[in-house]
Amino acid sequence: MISYVLAEEHRALRDTVGEFAREVVAPVIGGYYERAEFPYDLIARMAKLGLFGLPFPAEFGGMDGDLFALGVALEELARVDSSVAITLEAAVALGAMPIYRFGSDEQRRRWLPDLCAGDRLAAFGLTEAGGGSDIPGGMRTTARLAPGEGGGREWVIDGSKSFITNAGTSITSLVTVLAVTGDPGAGRREISAVVVPSRTPGFTVGPEYSKVGWCASDTRELAFTSCRVPADHLLGERGRGYAQFLEILDEGRIAIAALATGLAQGCLDECLRYVAERAAFGHQLGRFQAIQFKLADMAARVHTARLAWYDAAARVVAGEQAKKQAAMAKLVASNAAMDNARDASQVFGGYGFMNEFPVGRFYRDAKVLEIGEGTSEVQRMIIARELGLRD
Ligand SMILES: Cc1cc2nc3c(=O)[nH]c(=O)nc-3n(C[C@H](O)[C@H](O)[C@H](O)COP(=O)(O)OP(=O)(O)OC[C@H]3O[C@@H](n4cnc5c(N)ncnc54)[C@H](O)[C@@H]3O)c2cc1C
Repeated sequence: MISYVLAEEHRALRDTVGEFAREVVAPVIGGYYERAEFPYDLIARMAKLGLFGLPFPAEFGGMDGDLFALGVALEELARVDSSVAITLEAAVALGAMPIYRFGSDEQRRRWLPDLCAGDRLAAFGLTEAGGGSDIPGGMRTTARLAPGEGGGREWVIDGSKSFITNAGTSITSLVTVLAVTGDPGAGRREISAVVVPSRTPGFTVGPEYSKVGWCASDTRELAFTSCRVPADHLLGERGRGYAQFLEILDEGRIAIAALATGLAQGCLDECLRYVAERAAFGHQLGRFQAIQFKLADMAARVHTARLAWYDAAARVVAGEQAKKQAAMAKLVASNAAMDNARDASQVFGGYGFMNEFPVGRFYRDAKVLEIGEGTSEVQRMIIARELGLRD
């Protein structure tokens, strides 16, 4: 029996991160967003709170928490702003987690302490221009083992990656790249994960994309041209890259569901404040039943989304299989975020279309939740497979 009441330490974490989001992030994030500028000072403050080490053991500089703790922190951040939340999500769930999960002891000791401290960020390079949903079919990036220039063996990487979060900040230390490393025949492809440190010769990071939302986060295109890294940069077993990626994304989806729940809650928070102040036809907006019903629907969506991610995270923490629950949580929570963002903008009227209020930003940030870390169609494909409807 899984309990949906937050444990004492998670309640304390929620309160700390919530206060930080309201008092430190909220007053300044609009400016970063408008300038499409990465908020280094806010990220440094989040690092001081220990957020980048939340689910990792203390021996690597982590906070000895779990996926649930990460979700609680993401929800509270996204209640105020999604750019800082996705920076944390990508750094922890996609960047550092593969190293913790699949790295050797030596690799963990080499890379994790800086990542847990938040002094450095890691990125996860999976998607390519040829298609992010069809992995491994769409993958063109290759890595082949060759004699190294100074002796030993090296991976030589060629190809490119699209839409990679956290890849181009001045504190990014590495990107884990999925690449085709062999051809076992029978139409199958061997895929492996290789760690490429930033500023490795042959690895170039493109300019920041011009994005609709998440404007204060970092998203880049990556190019690899005869890029060489030592053979010991292989993460985990050769040929296990695809299986590793599926495991990482199951948990990543729960983290995104928590972030989406936070955005949906943020929309409700803003509306509750606004309808108590704004008047029309001689009444507060909150007195009109049509507005009350919108807010009631918004509250119900937040509740459902939160239960869905809590359930999926609790199963993972308990060591249970949660592929279906993770996909359902991501699907339900990203729908809730989109629907609440649309309704919140409507409740705000003309101000809902202005950048001076957070709901405009929430509206722009909600859409990508139905796309990143597996589109809503991909989540439905996973759920259908778990229902026994697909191979
Ligand atoms: C801001 C941002 C940040 C991102 N950060 C990262 C990152 O850090 N690392 C990373 O690796 N990637 C990242 N991504 C990439 C993201 O995960 C992909 O965009 C996403 O998985 C979809 O892939 P695609 O864009 O290639 O769309 P496509 O795969 O081309 O899909 C296009 C459309 O077709 C639909 N579709 C595809 N196949 C099917 C099918 N079989 N049945 C029905 N419908 C289908 C999709 O659902 C979608 O609606 C990021 C994307 C964005 C926008």
